[in-house]
This record gives sequence, C-alpha cells and structure tokens, in this order.
Amino acid sequence: MKENFKIALLPGDGIGPEVVREAVKILKIIEAKLNLTLEMDQVPVGGAGYEATGHPLPDESLTAAKNANAVLLGAVGGPKWEKLEFSLRPERALLGLRSSLKLYANLRPAKIFPALVEASTLKREVVEGLDILVVRELTGGIYFGEPRGIETLADGTRKGVNTLVYTEMEIERIARIAFQVAGQRSKKVMSVDKANVLEATELWREVVTRTQKEFPDIELQHMYVDNCAMQLVRDPKQFDVIVTTNMFGDILSDEASMLTGSIGMLPSASVGGENGMYEPIHGSAPDIAGQGKANPLATILSVGMMFKYSLNEEEPGQWIEDAVESVLNQGYRTPDIMSKGMKEVGTSEMGDLVAGELETNGF
Ligand code: NAD
Repeated sequence: MKENFKIALLPGDGIGPEVVREAVKILKIIEAKLNLTLEMDQVPVGGAGYEATGHPLPDESLTAAKNANAVLLGAVGGPKWEKLEFSLRPERALLGLRSSLKLYANLRPAKIFPALVEASTLKREVVEGLDILVVRELTGGIYFGEPRGIETLADGTRKGVNTLVYTEMEIERIARIAFQVAGQRSKKVMSVDKANVLEATELWREVVTRTQKEFPDIELQHMYVDNCAMQLVRDPKQFDVIVTTNMFGDILSDEASMLTGSIGMLPSASVGGENGMYEPIHGSAPDIAGQGKANPLATILSVGMMFKYSLNEEEPGQWIEDAVESVLNQGYRTPDIMSKGMKEVGTSEMGDLVAGELETNGF
C-alpha cells in the first residue's frame, strides 16, 4: 500500500512563496520516486495570514499545521507589516507555531559545499569539509523565563529584567535529541553552557552529563559559550553536534551558518512534537522579493531534513544534497552566491536544475 503523508505548505511573505514553489518541485519528484502520496495543503501565514484574516497565524493555518506530518515554511515579515501592534506582526506566527506544535528542538546544520568554499570569509583550510549541526533548545530559557519586563523603580529610573530558567525535564529532552542525532553522525556531542557563572546552566551541565548515560556510544564534552564562540572561527571542524540553550544557540547557530558563506544555502528543522517544521534560516528578503533572484537551495535542502526527521525516509536528504552539489559543481549560481566565471541563474531555473539532476542522476 502507498504510504500517505500530509504536508502543510506555509509559504508566507516576500521570497517565501518563490522558494517554497521550487521546494514543491523537489517534493513531487521524491513522491513519485518513493511511490508515496504527499497531500499538500497550502495555507497563509505571517503578513499573508494577516491580509487574509487579520491575524498572522489564522486558525485554519494552525489547524493545517497540526494535522500535517510536517510543515514546510518559507519566511514571514516585511516592511508593510512593521508598524502593526506586536501581537499582529508576521513574526509572531513563528512563535505561535513553535509553541503550538511543541517544537522544542531546532536543528541547524552548517555544511559547506566544496564548490562554495571561496564564499566563506574564512580561509579555505579552516572551512573545507565543515559539517556542523547545532541543536538549539527552542521553547525555554531566557527568551521565555518569568519574571520579565521593564519596571520603574522608586527613584524614577527603570530596570529591565529577563530570567534564565531551565527545568531538568527541558534539559533532558533536548539532550536526548542531541544524542540521537549524533548517533546518526560522528557520535560526538559538545554541550555548550556558562556553568562557571550561571546556576541554570550548572544544572544544564549536570543533567546533560546524566542523560548521556542512556547513550553510552556517544562521546560528550562540555565547553563554555565564550570559548565556543572563539573556537567556531578558530577551528570549526573540531565540532560535530553542538547542543545548547535557546539564547546561546540563537547566537552560535548564526555564527556557524556564516562560516559557510551564504544565508541562502542553509536549511533548518524544528522538532520535538508529533510533527516537525522545516524552513530556510533566512527571512523574507523584501529587497529582492518578486524579482526571481532568491536562492531556493536552503528551502530545497530543508525538504531533505523533512524526509529524514518527520517522514522516516533517510535517503532523500542525501539525494537532494548530491543533486545540489552537482548543480553547483556545474557552475550554476543564484546572484547571492555568484562569483567570476560562473553561470548566473534565477530562482525557478535553479529549482529546475536541481529537479533535473534528481531525476537523472540523483537516485
Ligand atoms: P533576510 O534573511 O530576509 O535578508 C538578509 C539579506 O540576505 C538580504 O539582503 C536578502 O536579500 C538576503 N537573502 C536572504 N535570503 C536570501 C535568499 N534565499 N537568496 C538570496 N538572498 C537572500 O533578513 P532581514 O532583511 O533581516 O529580514 C527581512 C524580513 O524577514 C523581516 O521582516 C524579518 O523580520 C523577517 N525574518 C523572517 C524570518 C523567518 O521567517 N524565519 C527569519 C529572519 C527574518
């Protein structure tokens, strides 16, 4: 019997619809190849959600996301909605989706394609072969801790407060995800904290160490976040899986992603609940929206992560990476990764090239 999966497509705003359209071409090829049925339901989110219903995360869109095996998101936001009150801004839809779908783990690979080594600001020998996965805790820590806010003191001056909180349960579950994904890679995990200064991360270190006992084949090391930030630019290839808190992960995953040179190349997965959400790490790029210039490869690579983490299909991720690598090796580039002597193509042509490669050589 054919396996049937539901996929919610949330293209969003700006270049979101342009890059999701290309990812759908890839989904359809793999659907045919694996003899699956992928039911795709496209719904508005972000600014598009606000225009359609007055809210950035319409009920219909949240329901479609909840009912799906996986969600593919483009990007949200843009100047048109910047002046809306905070709760109606497009970006609020992301937080709503993450918390409603209980997506507490964000997986962000930073992998460099050999053809793009020159696009990195770091030396070739430092980044060549780089393949890191940052596992960021996504629904706890200082971004959510209470008390929080800005209050006025008796003397009329103000005080800003945020609180770093982690429970043992929150640490255990993100550590398990990190150990599980490390089991599919080089079996090494670096846990990053600031245990010398912050009690919440002293507990983090203790609980991660304890949880590792469930995964005896995985090697665990610890590093302070300041050292990790430094080591990521000094010798990034020493890392494989990095697991860390929400705020440290936010910062370190951006740092790691820039080692690879382009924001248009990097996929991400948010997992932990019953389904997962997959999206490029970039935003809606209003400066190039509607011009056919956006790089669709981050979204296309996100499809590979979707098959691996939500649809229990390991192989498509590798097929997609191989197809992307082959297209890059043939010299095709979208404007963001263009360099001298290469062949410049637009969004849709890049999607077609990867699709063509998948159909002919990828399997
Ligand atoms: P951005 O990632 O949209 O763009 C930063 C720069 O990178 C721009 O010059 C853009 O043209 C370029 N760029 C981004 N993606 C590209 C791609 N695929 N191909 C080629 N070039 C690409 O970040 P920003 O400009 O800071 O934010 C724009 C809007 O996106 C804002 O409203 C912001 O809130 C929103 N945003 C959304 C998400 C999300 O949906 N997950 C993430 C970040 C920012």
